[in-house]
Amino acid sequence: MKASNRFPMALASAALIALAPVCVLGLHLPRLQAQAPQQYDVVLRNGRVLDPESGLDAVRNVGITGRQITAVSTGLLSGAVVIDASGLVVAPGFIDLHSHGQTPENYRYKAMDGVTTALELEVGVSPIPGWYAAREGKALINFGASSGDIPARMAVMHDTGGLLPRDAAVTKIATEDEQKAIEASVEQGLKDGGLGIGMGIAYTPTASPEEILDLFYIAARYKRPIFVHMRGGNVIASLQEVIADAAASGAPLHIVHINSMATTKTPQALRMIDGARARGLDVTTEAYPYTASMTDISSAVYDGWERQGPEYFARLLWPATGERLTRESFQRYREQGGFVIQFGNTEDMVRAAIAHPVVMIASDGIIEDGKGHPRGAGTFARVLGQYVREEKALTLMDAVRKSSLMPAQRLESMSPQMRRKGRVQVGADADLTVFDPARVVDRATFQNAAQYSDGFRFVLVGGAFVVRDGRLQDGVAPGRAIRAQ
Ligand SMILES: [Zn+2]
Repeated sequence: MKASNRFPMALASAALIALAPVCVLGLHLPRLQAQAPQQYDVVLRNGRVLDPESGLDAVRNVGITGRQITAVSTGLLSGAVVIDASGLVVAPGFIDLHSHGQTPENYRYKAMDGVTTALELEVGVSPIPGWYAAREGKALINFGASSGDIPARMAVMHDTGGLLPRDAAVTKIATEDEQKAIEASVEQGLKDGGLGIGMGIAYTPTASPEEILDLFYIAARYKRPIFVHMRGGNVIASLQEVIADAAASGAPLHIVHINSMATTKTPQALRMIDGARARGLDVTTEAYPYTASMTDISSAVYDGWERQGPEYFARLLWPATGERLTRESFQRYREQGGFVIQFGNTEDMVRAAIAHPVVMIASDGIIEDGKGHPRGAGTFARVLGQYVREEKALTLMDAVRKSSLMPAQRLESMSPQMRRKGRVQVGADADLTVFDPARVVDRATFQNAAQYSDGFRFVLVGGAFVVRDGRLQDGVAPGRAIRAQ
């Protein structure tokens, strides 16, 4: 499909710029308008524009009017604000499908990592309306969430956990009435615009295969994807379960963080996802570029810890203090609750996931009061610096595609807003990230996660600067809600 079909409004303004014939798509435009000299609100001059949909990779001038891109041109453009983007890449703003951090603190790390849209799709939220209302008009970047099975289950079963369940929703089997209440709550979240259904089977191990399949049927009815953290244990069996549920129900399926689920079996897992897609199933996946994962130490993924030896605890790092854990400290922190980092993957497997054509980039990040996993601040810069520039594991265009266009395409059948994102084209939203490909680098580490990435010179959300000359902008809130329709 040509850009002109996707953006009929924009085509009209493109025609004005070019002084083209005044009848466009049956719209008779007044000749007066066509004669006015074009002045853009913002012009990004002489940047290397990367548009992963059209394949454009060339020096262009980008004109922005209001919240939209209104010109991508070799001709000189004049604007109220003109930025010299020589030597810099102008790419679509990055879209993070897996961003647990949904606070002003987290949005700042995201913006400095090139992200213009951060979505909480794995755990999701419940109920939906209040969560959106709390961010409307106040957010630095665009935001959105799925309808979450985990929070719905926690509310119905009176679990005392935080982001993730820790007692009733983990240990008890839901009664028939509770199951109905959970499903009703998840479905209400879809009616309220939730971006699919978020699920974490590993965190709710007492949920039966039937309960899980029921949620796939609901997702299929609304034509919204399931975003799932699969069951723990053997990843082949975990994949078989969700792929079978997707096939039986017809629900689109997005498998989160394939890197940390598959570890040494990453090639086999990716082969299964490729195979499901080749057989016509709508299955996608994502990865983050680190060898360690992070989750709540009180959650079900550490059930059975009592039977483990010292090496089980030694691979765990407590980010609040930076210490490696022992049996004693593990027990203490498990009672207290909080995020723990777990080393468990190899660089080879991470690289295989990041470079694989179907794998999108998503952070799974959250920073709380400056503590967390470095993925919350450094994911997108790390892909560009480490895997593109240093290791040449994938091309710059592929990295940009995996970070912008592919996530937009994952969502656009349910959210028409996403058809205008992930592109540098006339008519697309002016969500843009402008970075220095020779310098872009992650600074966040396991010892100090709260460090902004470097090399993102300008980041715009809806035409407004959120990062300018490498600095966060104060007092701006151009972020908008992303919803399903
Ligand atoms: Zn997860």
